[in-house]
Amino acid sequence: MKKIIIGNWKMNPRTSREAEGWFSAVAKAVASIKKIEVVICAPFVFLSPLKKISKKIILGAQDSFIGDVGPFTGEISPEMLYGLGVRYVIFGHSERRELGETNELINKKIKSALSSGIVPVICVGERERDLDHGYFDIVKTQINECLKGVSKDAISKIIVAYEPVWSISSTKNRRDATADDAREMAVFIRKVLSDLSSPDIAHKTRVLYGGSVNERDAEEYLSNGGVHGLLVGKASLSTKKFSDIIKICETLGK
Ligand code: PEP
Repeated sequence: MKKIIIGNWKMNPRTSREAEGWFSAVAKAVASIKKIEVVICAPFVFLSPLKKISKKIILGAQDSFIGDVGPFTGEISPEMLYGLGVRYVIFGHSERRELGETNELINKKIKSALSSGIVPVICVGERERDLDHGYFDIVKTQINECLKGVSKDAISKIIVAYEPVWSISSTKNRRDATADDAREMAVFIRKVLSDLSSPDIAHKTRVLYGGSVNERDAEEYLSNGGVHGLLVGKASLSTKKFSDIIKICETLGK
């Protein structure tokens, strides 16, 4: 299974010109990458110009709505995104959950994306770590509710990104998660996926870690975190840092 590095640009940068500059710089750095997949999830408005720059970087989006067309003011469908070349979409990010997005809505969005041929990258993770280990139940509920009614076969196509909210860069007073934290949860996530599908399918489902990953700790998460790749936020806004993370992953290989 190929490892994957996904950059989440969030609501950055300010202009299309800047976005094209960042994308071109990463494209240059990944020109010789062969073993891994590289995805950049950019704001909707930049996707079209970015598509023309590089085939090597796979385009991702940060949300999509339900259905293909219809009376949903302000929304964008996965089918529209697929037509632009988008192949991955992030769902359930804590910053969107903070705006009121529920597991129920995420579940509908995931099903719609899957039927349009888009791979959902589902973010799960607890806000805090409690001493009673209740955070395992939080993650289990997120996965079970987000994947309710998703076919077993489709489960092997999705990606689950473990993003403990207490470690992501946008959280006030954030703390670092260790590779052990990531590995323990990655094992647990595979068990939950296995209960929903089968051990074989869970084994084929990629589990990522995300939460303030940078070029200094990427190797540690990739080597000891029990994950198939990384979801990178803030560090993906620096083309140098993001390119370094990609190269580290490529060097570690499968
Ligand atoms: C994210 O929010 O998806 C993320 C991984 O952010 P950061 O790396 O900035 O913590």
